[in-house]
Amino acid sequence: MAAPMTLIDRFGRSITYLRISITDLCNLRCVYCLPEKGIQWQARENELSADEIIRVTAALACAGVRRVRLTGGEPLIRPDIVEIVRRIADIPAIEEVSLTTNGMLLERLARPLAEAGLRRVNISLDTLDAGKFRRITRGGEIGREWRGIAAAERAGLTPIKLNTVVVNGLNADELPALARLTVENPWHVRFIELMPVGNAHAWGVGFPAREDRYLPVQEMLTRLSRFDIEPVASPTGNGPARTFRIPGALGTVGFISPLGEHFCQNCNRLRLTADGCLRPCLLMDGETNLRAALRAGEPLPQLIQQAVDAKPLGHELFLQHYPESRRMAQIGG
Ligand code: SAM
Repeated sequence: MAAPMTLIDRFGRSITYLRISITDLCNLRCVYCLPEKGIQWQARENELSADEIIRVTAALACAGVRRVRLTGGEPLIRPDIVEIVRRIADIPAIEEVSLTTNGMLLERLARPLAEAGLRRVNISLDTLDAGKFRRITRGGEIGREWRGIAAAERAGLTPIKLNTVVVNGLNADELPALARLTVENPWHVRFIELMPVGNAHAWGVGFPAREDRYLPVQEMLTRLSRFDIEPVASPTGNGPARTFRIPGALGTVGFISPLGEHFCQNCNRLRLTADGCLRPCLLMDGETNLRAALRAGEPLPQLIQQAVDAKPLGHELFLQHYPESRRMAQIGG
């Protein structure tokens, strides 16, 4: 039997995980992610078709990728989302397909997605307050979010992870209440530091100014000190979160600190943008465009290797080198 292929970058990291932004379109406009108006969406003809997504994923699976996460934009607004999940789950080397969503369309789609082979979902939830939810997402309805979470649980898309981007002066006061959700629910609430990607503009009346928004993980931990949280192993293996449990809780709380304590040395990922570019680092510009080769029916392995070879040792936010070529919704988070 042939030895399994592995993609190893210049720094010895094995690339086993692919995040695919399957569309840059979104049905919400979260203040830290997208502006309210004037968004330049990519040309629709540049969006990869389901066939093209499958071809890239299969090529990467041949080269050693084992886990795939679908994201966006909002992945559930693609009409062919169930087909995409089914076809990726059918690629023999792929061991897990998961998805990150804002939850607005999950109530209806959780069951068909689970039946198509989706294993887990991460759902974005930045606040427990219905009015604030509407303001942060610019129009989202928190009731739909809760119904989506319940549907995902019923469909067995577990363990459910809830992603909270923590913004000082906006939702940081809710850290204890969000953490408390894990006491009676087997959910994994993950607090994520705000990343400086395409969000330097003013967010509107009543939102904090740029220089006041960032809250480091160390400060988040201090705000949760009343819970005596204890470190535990991550519920789903070696992701970027540092994980803790409130004593006796069914779920966990995790902290993702791309800026404060960055985890680049263990990075095992590549990202595929909706318009077909392989991006080796979330927080550094630089991509290999596969679209032309895909559409010309040319082989992909050399281009894939080129992207892996370009993977930097780590991002350089500490040098004030910020990604500028894309918004978070185009990269997929
Ligand atoms: N629409 C889906 C959703 O809302 O989960 C998937 C796409 S969204 C870009 C993926 C994740 O990135 C979400 O959890 C979102 O909260 C997070 N995100 C977006 N902008 C961010 C930023 N500037 N800093 C940190 N996380 C961000």
